[in-house]
Amino acid sequence: MAFRVLIAQFMHETNTFSVLPTTLDDYRRRWLVRGNEMASRFRNTKTEIGGLLDAADRYGWELIPALAANATPSGRLTVETWAFIRDGIVDALKSAGRVDGICLACHGAAVAATSDDPEGELLEAIRAVVGPDVPIAMTLDLHANVTDRMARLSSALISYRTYPHVDQYERAQQGAAPIQAAMEGKGKPRCLVAQPATLSGVDGGKTTVPGPMLDLLAMADAFEKEPGINVVSVQAGFMPSDIANVGPSIAVSHEPGYEARAAEIARAMSQRIWDRRGETFSTLLTVEQAIAKAIAHDASKGPLVIADGTDNPGGGAYGDATRLLAALLEAKIEGVAVGTMFDPAAVAMAMKAGVGGEITVDLGGHHDPAFGEPLRLTATVALLSDGTFVNDGPMQQGVETAMGPTAVLRVGGIDIVVVSNRIQTIDLQVFLS
Ligand SMILES: [Zn+2]
Repeated sequence: MAFRVLIAQFMHETNTFSVLPTTLDDYRRRWLVRGNEMASRFRNTKTEIGGLLDAADRYGWELIPALAANATPSGRLTVETWAFIRDGIVDALKSAGRVDGICLACHGAAVAATSDDPEGELLEAIRAVVGPDVPIAMTLDLHANVTDRMARLSSALISYRTYPHVDQYERAQQGAAPIQAAMEGKGKPRCLVAQPATLSGVDGGKTTVPGPMLDLLAMADAFEKEPGINVVSVQAGFMPSDIANVGPSIAVSHEPGYEARAAEIARAMSQRIWDRRGETFSTLLTVEQAIAKAIAHDASKGPLVIADGTDNPGGGAYGDATRLLAALLEAKIEGVAVGTMFDPAAVAMAMKAGVGGEITVDLGGHHDPAFGEPLRLTATVALLSDGTFVNDGPMQQGVETAMGPTAVLRVGGIDIVVVSNRIQTIDLQVFLS
């Protein structure tokens, strides 16, 4: 008799300082799929659902796909949005009949209009249906804000170990293992969490440079080899969330009888985060310094990438900041690709003018003057597109991304990718498509 496993995905990284509430339309723009559509959309992708589909094949699970929902980070989920996703998952569970195990893919830093801890609330609603004994694994983004309720009500919390995040597939597989063991009667995993009293830490979770995050992950690897310890996860936290449980944390999944040891590990690693809280390996430049680097750059050595981290929609920013673009235009730098600029009205103007047409537009800067005013410029429409592509880089490989109606506006030697959906530039196809 095959084990029956429910899978679901609820992703959101909520920037509570954003003036843009997160709606169901925001989810539809990225993805909001139910039931068997989850398999057709995510099979053979480097995602959590892709990983769970393969784990199900390997273990011979009978899958109950509930719902998968993901939206670009923005403000709190509206009442309707959060209710739709929570109830969609819980209703699928209620109508599923026997369920032996549950695998959830969450970000872990969601905030809803009615809840500062939606993931914990979801687990509570699920436990109310299945009781305390059905094993539940929850994968998390490395930038999760973990609550005690999330740890207490799950069997294992498994966070990404890469930043940029390229191990979603592997983490889902890691989470499937203790669920399989528990269903076979070989384990009864429980989870706990420890949190140092700091808003930020582990250098934001960077895994591409030496520093506290890599050191903590090495500790986690070593502790995971101990008997009775299933998973040790390090979360860097997500700071732009004005909630009580914001910040880094350590989650430890353990077997019965090992709770004291798990708590000791969590405390020791949490203390390490506190001790190294000031360490950072990033040097941030002013706009002027970045432009000076661009002017001095030797293009024969390959591209120079300038990232405006404060305008990253992947962290809930608007994606329409104008100061860097204004400085590039003023410096008359050539051979520049800027992306993305979120401005649906500018795209509509470009569509009307057509390729080769000229438009004068107040570009960007429409949400918060703190990130720059709209930029008046006259541009040639170099290209128009439906803005759809499939990620072919290492992050979310195989997943379709929708920038919405898209225009490339050319001003001097600068091409600006102007989009109708806020998206994070995680794949070169933003430019190449
Ligand atoms: Zn993250």
